[in-house]
Amino acid sequence: MKIVLENLTKKFPSRNKKSPEPVVAVNNFNFEIPDGKLIGLLGPSGCGKSTTLNLICGLQKPTEGKIYFGDDDVTQLPAENRGVGLVFQNYALYPHMTVKQNIMFPLGNLKGKDKLTKAQMEEKAYAIAKLVQIDELMDRKPAELSGGQQQRVAIARALVKMPRVLLLDEPLSNLDARLRLQTREEIKRIQKETGITTIFVTHDQEEAMSISDMIVVMKDGILQQIGKPQQVYDDPVNLFVAKFLGTPPISVFDGRISGGKLYIGDDAVLDVNGCEDEPVYVGIRPEGFILDDNGAFHCNLSGVEVMGRDISIVCSNPACHAPVIRAIVSSDSSVNVSSADVRFALKPHKVLVFSKETEKRIYFETK
Ligand code: ATP
Repeated sequence: MKIVLENLTKKFPSRNKKSPEPVVAVNNFNFEIPDGKLIGLLGPSGCGKSTTLNLICGLQKPTEGKIYFGDDDVTQLPAENRGVGLVFQNYALYPHMTVKQNIMFPLGNLKGKDKLTKAQMEEKAYAIAKLVQIDELMDRKPAELSGGQQQRVAIARALVKMPRVLLLDEPLSNLDARLRLQTREEIKRIQKETGITTIFVTHDQEEAMSISDMIVVMKDGILQQIGKPQQVYDDPVNLFVAKFLGTPPISVFDGRISGGKLYIGDDAVLDVNGCEDEPVYVGIRPEGFILDDNGAFHCNLSGVEVMGRDISIVCSNPACHAPVIRAIVSSDSSVNVSSADVRFALKPHKVLVFSKETEKRIYFETK
């Protein structure tokens, strides 16, 4: 089921007498979620992710704009008629019911021609429990399950009616690191097997990048960029998106373009063609540094961290916005750790330049 958001806006009244302007939680969203894909909705706390989900599932009504499921305009349709499955951070299972009863619960609400017999409900519950691999646990109560197992029950309960759309709001936040990793793989598998269009909300960029077919990056209720995870990482449209994606994060420097060269401090680090002379921000991805004794970019060396396959050169530069730069190079590289400085050449496609005025990307050609 394709989902289309058209000029979607949600404003909340301000409760602050000193600033009576409404809070614009979602600001004129226009995008299309293709059928059968898993979309990661990503952004910092308060950027409007949950509000977007609530609008899609019908728990809140938009101030303006429309929502389509396929060709159906569902904007005014009550939540219970939209065919949406929901999973929240707090999975809120019924503690007095068994796993089976929890999964069957939504089926008990079906009325009229959709009404099911107990045997039919059990059959559906077992089928979905098998899919999420909890069919061995059907007679347990939620308190007798691990966090990951509880989350699977919540997913099974959301899937048992075979929704048109599955919405997951920070579903992994309550799990420890290892279980998070495992459960996100599970979600990916379940989504692929069911083919249900799924929106996964998270503030964790690594999680969104690893699990999603496409990511949507938001800030202050405004859509920043939508695309395949690798494409958005490689080709961010602005400084916010560049900084939001990537671990270790991109290093950002004050720089300038002058006479076809890109400068950081006094170092002319790259030839850039087709750009006006102007002050800029220069972002360098950690994998964009090449150790080179004759390299143009000078940094102060602090140390080296061994990470197995790679090493991380920890250094600093007065033009950098952060106290520490982490440059990732292959573990074959030899670094003279007794030296006070280190020199790099830069991979041009890993150097991202942004206007200081608008923070938008400035595209350049290298010679
Ligand atoms: P988080 O990651 O912290 O859950 P979020 O990205 O999901 O955040 P939302 O919960 O959608 O963000 O909130 C977006 C903005 O709308 C925030 O500024 C929030 O304070 C505001 N907001 C959300 N619900 C209401 C409401 N019912 N009344 C007033 N303001 C609200």
